[in-house]
Amino acid sequence: MPSPRAGAKLGDTVFRPHRDRLAPPGGRLAGANRGRIIAGMIDRCELCGRVGPFEPRWPGWQIVRCGGCGLIFYDGPPEANLYSESYFSGTEYRDYLADERAHRRNFRRRLRTLRRYVSGGRLLEVGCAYGLFLDEAREHFHVAGIDVCQWPNDYAREALGVEVATGEFLDQPEPLQPYDAVCMWDTLEHLPHPVRAIERAAAWLAPGGVLAVTTNDVGSLVACVRGRRWRQVHPPTHRWYFSRATLRRAVEQAGLSVEAVRYPGVSRGWASMAHGVFGEGALQHAATLGGRLNFDLTLNLRDIMYVIARKPA
Ligand SMILES: [Zn+2]
Repeated sequence: MPSPRAGAKLGDTVFRPHRDRLAPPGGRLAGANRGRIIAGMIDRCELCGRVGPFEPRWPGWQIVRCGGCGLIFYDGPPEANLYSESYFSGTEYRDYLADERAHRRNFRRRLRTLRRYVSGGRLLEVGCAYGLFLDEAREHFHVAGIDVCQWPNDYAREALGVEVATGEFLDQPEPLQPYDAVCMWDTLEHLPHPVRAIERAAAWLAPGGVLAVTTNDVGSLVACVRGRRWRQVHPPTHRWYFSRATLRRAVEQAGLSVEAVRYPGVSRGWASMAHGVFGEGALQHAATLGGRLNFDLTLNLRDIMYVIARKPA
């Protein structure tokens, strides 16, 4: 159990990783420790550099807010092997590739938007998983991807024939040529160091190049109404909760300027949605007619923001 940092002014000791990390929303900590300072794992705010401790935001989830810049983040212990094979087939996604049609629909929508700002050239996707976006984008761009997961990358290489590197983005060697576009689709919230990742992406862009990011907007109406029950609150996979303001700050600190902020709809297959709502069991079986009923649904709760930022020419 980590001890509170020297000099930290603690209202209470609330760090009990064996229990709190997996505490449900609305668990005991949420009420009892509201307003208390949490002794967490992160010493300095990733965005503004302010030294912790940080204000509790959703204490039952060990999620805090930086008083300096407003960035909201998970301040609990990191977990090893989060992105094991079960991430894409059970824990986070029911079966990622079974929803391929819906994923491709989302990626084509994002690609159409992207192409309003950059029409072609070299494109890098950070967090490319199975390479479905790269497969859609290569009609218009020379594409490459990076992801920490080996087996979806193997699929991208072997089944789709796209060029992907496996590993952390920040550990990758500098490319020989800069990129015209760097994309991070629903990736920023998972990264160990999202602000540094944005800086790296900016450094790898050619003058006039574009960074395209989608991530949850913690300042959205849905997030404000739902609070700690917002569907996007699930640490430790979702570690960072940006708002328009904090994401803008991260992008501008990296020397880019925001050109557009949009709120795209997201398509999902009914079968995976029923799995998310009902879990495995009789209800899910009934809702999908035993797996025979599946179709794509597009919802827009306006809580996923799509930010386009450009490097000065
Ligand atoms: Zn901060």
